[in-house]
Amino acid sequence: MITPRSLVLLLSLMAACARNPGEVVVRRSQPHMGTVVTLTVAIDDEAVAERAIASGFAEVSRLDQLLSNYKSTSDLSRLNAQAGTGPVSVAPELFEVTRAAVQIATRSGGAFNPLLQPVIKLWGIPEHPRVPSAAELEALRPLTDLRGLVLSEDQRTIALAQPGMALGLGGVGKGYTADRVAEVLEQSGARGGVAAIGGDIRVFGKHPDDRPWRIAVRPPQADTPPLAVVELSRGAVSTSGDYERYFEVDGVRYHHIIDPRSLMPAQGAASVTVLAPTATEADGLATAVLVMSPAEGVALVERSAHSAALILDQDRRRLASSRWPAGVESDAKFDLRDGENAY
Ligand code: AMP
Ligand code: MG
Repeated sequence: MITPRSLVLLLSLMAACARNPGEVVVRRSQPHMGTVVTLTVAIDDEAVAERAIASGFAEVSRLDQLLSNYKSTSDLSRLNAQAGTGPVSVAPELFEVTRAAVQIATRSGGAFNPLLQPVIKLWGIPEHPRVPSAAELEALRPLTDLRGLVLSEDQRTIALAQPGMALGLGGVGKGYTADRVAEVLEQSGARGGVAAIGGDIRVFGKHPDDRPWRIAVRPPQADTPPLAVVELSRGAVSTSGDYERYFEVDGVRYHHIIDPRSLMPAQGAASVTVLAPTATEADGLATAVLVMSPAEGVALVERSAHSAALILDQDRRRLASSRWPAGVESDAKFDLRDGENAY
């Protein structure tokens, strides 16, 4: 029986869950790019939602075929195979993400370096990891000189100056993909949504509950609660961590983000989360800041308009830039299933 009291309770519960009439949230995950891709759309028709999500996954596959360092048939691998032979015409997307990588490299004073690919390959992370000798690493250093990467805007070409040089887009390609996929979801009719390529996440539009999207920043250990939950109506959030891909030899841990100065795994921060207007920028900055000392990393983010960072240093101490949205992390309810990162 509905008493006045239970009616009040029911009405207030309904208000709390009030949705724009008919709107649903549909979420699907698939493995791509060595991680889990989760696409979420807010839409008023479930069939349209499924079609939007299918278009989003098709875009992920298309970009992977252009930008992958792992697929020997990708446009990027084709470019790398022509290192030392002069300018190569490339697809607009490959040109665009390379331009973004060069910009992050410049802004970070070379902490971000897309020419580290031969060094990353030598370390063999993740497939055939081993610790290279100092001599092996030093032999590759000339190939990492950023002056050897030349872009021509007019011709839309990329040149790698020396044979053996190789472009790697692992530090920025997932964020770029999140941006492009969010565009596809929006063009497919979604009023709002989230494109998460692993920890590189772009949001757009509104949640049907008329609130921002809540994005969980995943911590070093998967089974602990999120490090922070950020609320975003637009823009992007990316997390880089020294715990994402690594191997151990004699009790020493070697991870996948390389310091261009030492050509060894970076010793900067343990985890970096960056908020920025695009996921391309958030992804690139997060990788760059992980290489730098936490103080240098915060300074880089402070110089970047509309950006903020939350850093965990090697002792797991938190350090936030001035624009980091304080308060959100403590207020948010952790209404998440295992591994989910947006709600
Ligand atoms: P992320 O997961 O975005 O932090 O990127 C990590 C990936 O970026 C690595 O797996 C490498 O492919 C690549 N990478 C490693 N070190 C660097 C660096 N210093 N600058 C740019 N890319 C890097
Ligand atoms: Mg990155």
